[in-house]
Amino acid sequence: MDWSTRACARTGHVTFSPAEDHLAQQIRVSTPVGTAWKCLRCGVFVPGEPFAHGPASEAPEILHDHQIRDRVIIRFLAVERFIRGLIVLVLGIVVYQLQGSQDSLQDRLTTSIPLLKPFADQIGWNINQSKFIHLLNVIVETTPHTLVLIAIGLVAYGCVQLTEGIGLWYQMRWAEYLTVVATSAFIPYEIYELMHTVTLFKIGAFVLNILAVLWLLWTKHLFGVNGGGAAIEVESLRGQSAIDHAISLRTAPVA
Ligand SMILES: [Zn+2]
Repeated sequence: MDWSTRACARTGHVTFSPAEDHLAQQIRVSTPVGTAWKCLRCGVFVPGEPFAHGPASEAPEILHDHQIRDRVIIRFLAVERFIRGLIVLVLGIVVYQLQGSQDSLQDRLTTSIPLLKPFADQIGWNINQSKFIHLLNVIVETTPHTLVLIAIGLVAYGCVQLTEGIGLWYQMRWAEYLTVVATSAFIPYEIYELMHTVTLFKIGAFVLNILAVLWLLWTKHLFGVNGGGAAIEVESLRGQSAIDHAISLRTAPVA
């Protein structure tokens, strides 16, 4: 898939007229309908005025093919982390509020379960085996002090996930490191969990986390992997290098 062409179809071409004539000549052609400028991203010649002009050093930074794909993947990861963080944070707040009302929860469970039983039997819900009821019982029997510790843990984990999500969305380098370190830290726990019970959701989350760590390490050159930080400088194209790249692109027909 040509990600540059897709990006241009979605957000429009990026044309630039450099002040340096020898550069301008290489990304400009005359057509029957006037001058056309070569798109710095996809290489198509676009008739009409260039999007911007100025010295070559001011040419906009352009993401090309695989960089655009990487941004789509990282934004998917960002949204996934953000939603997960929000759910865990809300869960933490709910658990914290429960520690003050364990007695009333106990009363409600004692009175509600016998009332729910006939209804549960009718719809085939085995209330005695219900994980949700089991979870409520665990909360009732846990000491308030432990519940506060669980709530703090959940809120902290939720905040880390939210921070990862926001940082990844804005492509912050620290967020890529944070995601790799925090996600790796939970992988032994996920393996431990999978050794006890295997569900499709757990396997999915586990595989996604492993892939996310490996993908970030490799494509973002973290911890010196795949050429390290120096390799990123080579990939980043702005100013004259963006124009040089456009010149090197195969000449496409006029759009
Ligand atoms: Zn284009």
